[in-house]
Amino acid sequence: MVLYSIECGNFKLDGGAMFGVVPKPLWEKTNPADSQNRINMATRALLIENGKKLILIDCGLGDKQSEKFFSHYGRWGDFSLVSSLKSAGFSPDDITDVVFTHLHFDHCGGAVFYNKKGGLEPFFKNASFWCHKKHWEWAINPNIREKASFLKENILPIKESGQLKLIEQEDRLSTSSDLGFDLLLVDGHTEKQMLPIVNYKGQTIVFAGDLIPTLGHLPIPYIMAYDTRPLLTLKEKAFLLDLACEKNYFLFLEHDPYNELITLKKGGKGVAFDQKYTLNSFFGD
Ligand SMILES: [Zn+2]
Repeated sequence: MVLYSIECGNFKLDGGAMFGVVPKPLWEKTNPADSQNRINMATRALLIENGKKLILIDCGLGDKQSEKFFSHYGRWGDFSLVSSLKSAGFSPDDITDVVFTHLHFDHCGGAVFYNKKGGLEPFFKNASFWCHKKHWEWAINPNIREKASFLKENILPIKESGQLKLIEQEDRLSTSSDLGFDLLLVDGHTEKQMLPIVNYKGQTIVFAGDLIPTLGHLPIPYIMAYDTRPLLTLKEKAFLLDLACEKNYFLFLEHDPYNELITLKKGGKGVAFDQKYTLNSFFGD
């Protein structure tokens, strides 16, 4: 098996929204804000080549929406999904499976594009697209709070293509026989976010998604204002941090432009940051 980090492009989000009730003087130490109070964000996907399948976990923003839409999200840097796949030695048509942690636009937008006739179709034409069944139902009938994050043009073409596969896992943590790795289900950020946990070269890597988006989000109370069930996020985060610390799991950070892979240690106030790596620096030959 080989894992690749796939940088799908950077953007910015409001720092206050990313840290909820935490005062700015505290969060800006780790995540400095620009003149519009926005912090730097990555959309870092994980690509799993396991000999039989080529599985992509999330796929960034894509570029379907208007300039006005993207002006709110300050895209920056040179990364793109296609160029990062190419650097890893693959093309979009090679992807056999795309796993959505959830369907907020910064996680799934890259999966659908406008074709030459102006129609919407899946960007990965040979892939199955995996989503938790309860999350899918949640996303296609969005609540007012999340409506701006669930964009129809990102979601409905997946179903229309016939390439959608729904996961019906009920247990919080169990192995997906379809995908070959574990999925941790968490409900604080949105209904049934799926976080892959992958064994790799004798180690274990957790795709931390929107439960722990950046290194600055390690302290338990540092959670997003976007979360639909914040008290639950606090519990789920404590569970994951304790598990990862106790078992020496790595956390793969989807949204942190400067920290790809981190380890944890027991600290005075609970679980604390230990070391930072990249997939290449730790696992590369
Ligand atoms: Zn999200």
